[in-house]
Amino acid sequence: MDRLMQEIERREGDLVALTQALVRIPTLNPPGRHYREICDLVGQRLGGRGWEVQMVRAEGALGDSDCYPRWNVICRLEGTRPGECVHFNSHHDVVAVGEGWTRDPFGGELAEGRVWGRGACDMKGGLATSIVAAEAFARLRPDFRGAIEISATADEESGGFGGVAHLAEQGFFDPARVQHVIIPEPLNKDRICLGHRGVWWAEIETKGRIAHGSMPFLGDCAVRHMGAVIDEMERTLFPLLAGRRTAMPVVPEGARQSTLNLNAIHGGEPVQEAGYTGLPSACVPDRCVLTIDRRFLAEEDIAAVKSEVTAMMERVRAARPGFRYEIRDLFEVMPSMTAEDAPVVRTVQDAVQRVMGRSAEFVVSPGTYDQKHIDRIGRLKNCIAYGPGILDLAHQPDEWIGVQDMVEAGQVMALSLETLLG
Ligand SMILES: [Zn+2]
Repeated sequence: MDRLMQEIERREGDLVALTQALVRIPTLNPPGRHYREICDLVGQRLGGRGWEVQMVRAEGALGDSDCYPRWNVICRLEGTRPGECVHFNSHHDVVAVGEGWTRDPFGGELAEGRVWGRGACDMKGGLATSIVAAEAFARLRPDFRGAIEISATADEESGGFGGVAHLAEQGFFDPARVQHVIIPEPLNKDRICLGHRGVWWAEIETKGRIAHGSMPFLGDCAVRHMGAVIDEMERTLFPLLAGRRTAMPVVPEGARQSTLNLNAIHGGEPVQEAGYTGLPSACVPDRCVLTIDRRFLAEEDIAAVKSEVTAMMERVRAARPGFRYEIRDLFEVMPSMTAEDAPVVRTVQDAVQRVMGRSAEFVVSPGTYDQKHIDRIGRLKNCIAYGPGILDLAHQPDEWIGVQDMVEAGQVMALSLETLLG
């Protein structure tokens, strides 16, 4: 065990260099740039060390085009004896840079014991850590059982349809093929993320009738109808959701209840393009659309989540003559939570204790990540997120990953491999 821990420490320089090389490829999503390049980097590195490498393009998936092909790479190293397969899955895409940086977002600079850049924390540092941990383990324990897989996948930041969802549909996460999945998302090195809340996105539309704005009584204002909807939400729906608590250990604490965000609202004349110097015209809005983002708990049923909103709309309708509306589903994800006594959870928990001398905290993510596809499409339940990045730094300016955090998380990953495949 000590030799394995030392071996990871010895490889710190290599871990930093690999993280820097990954950060320097600007895999921005949208639109999905340089995906092939980053897959080649991972594939060439592991292929050169005897891993079998598969490049998979998610042809025809949401977001895939000849201009921006959705490339994924899956690398597999077979042991010398039969056994289980441990799979590390990282997404290789990063979100937009945004404002407020004091470092080069794609420079991969090493300073203050950190590697800086967009994606360093979320989650190229995690990808590099899993690669170095697996290489160190395979070097010291060449006679291991089973197999190790490492994948770098597309589009997690935009739903994962050209990445893990596609691979799951192709059978890559079939429980007959893969038994343990660790996703090195940035959830802090001493926490194990068991899953995430559910999501329902929908559009609510209120309908009216257009008329001249000087005689609004001849029309029917869709925006006033929507105002009544929001008023009803404030009086009944928001208090109801705030009172609904979950037993899931969601972090941060504020997300340990049902939540509803009003993402966008639009009614009446479209916003004019920049440079338009005229005035608006006088019309009664005949349409108002509200986009909602409802996050729900393992204890809630999605059908009940939807009918609660319909019931609220019906209350508004009963009180307002001429009120007409429509609700359109946009997107939904079921909550996912791996059991605390699942083998991968117990293994990583034990490894955190050995490396850091304290027990790992169990958490659940407020938002979703690729575990949803592994669970729902792949039907694989033995899956967690565990990685070196600090959650709060994801998507922020001056994003970084701590070198010591990567070393320690790498030790946890290598020890976990030893437990499962040694
Ligand atoms: Zn991520």
